[in-house]
Amino acid sequence: MIKRVLPKPFQYFGNVRFFLFSLCLIISLFVAGIFFVLYNRTNDLLTQRIHEQAVSYENLIRHTKNWNYKYGGVYVEKRPGVESNAYLLRLGMNPDLKTETGEVLTIRNHAIMVDEIAQQTKRHEGVNFRAVSLKPLSDKNTPDEVEKVALKAFENGAKEFSRIELAGAHGSFYRYMMPLFVEPDCLTCHKSQGYKTGDIIGTMSISIPISQMVSEISANRLLISIAAILTIGILIGITYFLTWRLVIQLDAAQKSLKKLASTDELTGIKNRRQIMKRLEEEFERASRLHEPLCLIIIDIDHFKKINDNYGHPCGDQVLRQVAGRMNDNLRRYDSIGRIGGEEFLLVSPGSTIDEAGILAERLRETICGEQFGEEPCRFSISISAGVTTLLETDSKVDTLIKRADEALYRAKHSGRNRVEVA
Ligand code: GH3
Ligand code: MG
Ligand code: MG
Repeated sequence: MIKRVLPKPFQYFGNVRFFLFSLCLIISLFVAGIFFVLYNRTNDLLTQRIHEQAVSYENLIRHTKNWNYKYGGVYVEKRPGVESNAYLLRLGMNPDLKTETGEVLTIRNHAIMVDEIAQQTKRHEGVNFRAVSLKPLSDKNTPDEVEKVALKAFENGAKEFSRIELAGAHGSFYRYMMPLFVEPDCLTCHKSQGYKTGDIIGTMSISIPISQMVSEISANRLLISIAAILTIGILIGITYFLTWRLVIQLDAAQKSLKKLASTDELTGIKNRRQIMKRLEEEFERASRLHEPLCLIIIDIDHFKKINDNYGHPCGDQVLRQVAGRMNDNLRRYDSIGRIGGEEFLLVSPGSTIDEAGILAERLRETICGEQFGEEPCRFSISISAGVTTLLETDSKVDTLIKRADEALYRAKHSGRNRVEVA
């Protein structure tokens, strides 16, 4: 299976994926929560508005009914279309009255009055209300299923009852009911049914059309959902963008930290720690695979004099130039690092001792054949080198370094500007 290697920032991005996912999840839940509360609150307010409307209708009807009670019914002119109270007729009572001037009046008790007002509100506002009872005197006061549930609830002590009916045959309605109690006057008509004062005789049932409110709620839901999705999208986008930038900056910072930790500040080549690490790795590998490994320690000759004669900054510049020059002359697998003031260590894996000797000699000739420093302080310098190779008996790098050091010591004591092999 081929493993896809992602560019560095993407790898870091992979590491923060869980963090980012959790953050986005928290943001989404938080925003969704806020919008959910907002949505519910708006719905509650709309429902509350309809409820208050229903209660005020109920109040008005009750006051109107009581007003009628107070007068024991009111007489109206019996014009064409105005019928006499059929129920009173059935009871053998005469609901009509002839005035001295010959006009015929007929009595409107509370039940008929409420019924007639209901017809008007239904025509104009679509609001319907009617009194219903489990023992109705007239068929039109028979309760429907919802009203039966309400009446049951009142019998169990409920003070009011409301329900939202969505998308019925005639649209959506808010149903509101309050219990109707038997009052002394009611007994005139209802005593025969076995009622006594204080009994629940039925309910005043109010239906308010809410199709518009329902569509308002739907529009509200759509609007709030879009707003929530947009907000979540924008917040997640911003979070991703900021995290992505942070990851790139972290990657750059990590790279430069790594470079700083492994680079010699003055010369830009590997520092002591890094070249020793490389040597340890190559030593371990060469010992395990029985492959050749050579080590060269290089020291600039009479460097102290350069500092003394031309100043420390000039000495620094020479160090930089010499390091750069040697670094440019290495093979691909060779590594060089600065291990002391003017001392360098070169690790050459895969080289035989002869090849390493040739390499050291080539470096010496290169350095020797050039001038360093800057006009007017340009001068030639020389280097000495100690070369050694990994032996079967070497069990640690220190032995190798010690041998290369001894070779360098010999080169110094043999007159400098030379390569010695151990
Ligand atoms: P030899 O040929 O025996 O190696 O003589 P040398 O003068 O090169 O060696 P010695 O050890 O006597 O002196 C090394 C000098 O390198 C001493 C020190 O001032 C100088 N030096 C060490 N580090 C730095 C550095 O970072 N910058 C500069 N300019 N000089 C340094
Ligand atoms: Mg020196
Ligand atoms: Mg030295």
